[in-house]
Amino acid sequence: MSIPILGGARLLFRVDPLPRESPRGYLCRVAQEHGYCGPLSLAQIAGLPTSGLERDDSAKQIAHVLRLEPEEWQAMCYRHIGGRNRFEQRSFYGQRISDDDLNYDRPRICPRCLKQRPIWWAVWDLGLVTTCPIHRCQLVNQCPVCKRRLAWQRPSVHKCRCGLDLCTLTAEAATPDLVAINAAIYRAAGFPPGESAELDLAAGGFPAEVLRLGLGALLRFALFVGASREKEKLRRKQRPFTATDLAVATEIDRGAVALLRDWPRPLRELLRNMLPPDVTDLAALNFSKIFGNFYRHLFRVLPRGEFGFLHDAFESFVVEDWPGLIRGQHRYFSFAVRRSSHWVAANKAERTARTTGTRIWDLARQGQVDAIFLNVRGGGSRTECWIRRESLNQ
Ligand SMILES: [Zn+2]
Ligand SMILES: [Zn+2]
Repeated sequence: MSIPILGGARLLFRVDPLPRESPRGYLCRVAQEHGYCGPLSLAQIAGLPTSGLERDDSAKQIAHVLRLEPEEWQAMCYRHIGGRNRFEQRSFYGQRISDDDLNYDRPRICPRCLKQRPIWWAVWDLGLVTTCPIHRCQLVNQCPVCKRRLAWQRPSVHKCRCGLDLCTLTAEAATPDLVAINAAIYRAAGFPPGESAELDLAAGGFPAEVLRLGLGALLRFALFVGASREKEKLRRKQRPFTATDLAVATEIDRGAVALLRDWPRPLRELLRNMLPPDVTDLAALNFSKIFGNFYRHLFRVLPRGEFGFLHDAFESFVVEDWPGLIRGQHRYFSFAVRRSSHWVAANKAERTARTTGTRIWDLARQGQVDAIFLNVRGGGSRTECWIRRESLNQ
């Protein structure tokens, strides 16, 4: 036995944890098999406060009580692996996710999964998992008999606090869009979503890159696109989301699918819908003002290295549909975009048109080429001249 003896009581026998079982669900199952009334009894046996069951610094002690190797418990519990406060990161079976991705307080279940096997799967602990893709039904987080929310502290994994057998519940059927996005999350989390859901996923037309994202990145991306959309437009501010809220999570899942389906067409439409209908002053069009939170997030939270497909789609929109200039703050854009945008600065236009700067300015002033003159302040006032690229070919 390599377990150090820390003193204090231990359980009489060990319950083998299953791969990808929820750590909370495991504790619930252990308590049930030992005939305790719920997982908090285990904290009492360990001599820990109830919060101690999930703390990194009591992990060794918990493992001892449970008769697990410390590494076994460590691999299973969502241990803290960096970041601070609201950027706290946790390990979800080896994958890095945000603390905010986890739903601790309002547990969800799939009645049909429980019926097959009374195990609480870790994937149900993710706030954006709203649907079981295997059984094509929505997850349940409230008891229809006592009307109370399901709790971690319950007599067994498949029993409500009121004693209702949760396997007997009928869950609401899920729409194909919910099946598809949840299947994508299941896959990223290492849970096979089942053959039928794989078909929905394939039919969804999501960008292939999305299906290759790690779990943390996929959750960040789904939350971003799902919470940024409202009707046919982008929201000024991303919709707030707490992982416990099943109804909002369902809306976010749906929003994400609406944007990812037949990629990149819906995103392009959404971006076009944000442009003002009548633009009189092209020079005044500003990416930050028009795309707000989406624009800031794109460059700060979703880096090109991981989310190249999103940047590519945005850049294609800019090249083809953005009527304004790309200047100054738009250092974010790749060279290819600046080279193909609708408007080109006069000094760059010289090279393209193989002519001198003064000639271009003259043509612009005479109205022979389509041009915008822009007074720029800062370090003395100066005038910039921008030429419509198409008119250079004449
Ligand atoms: Zn299920
Ligand atoms: Zn109940």
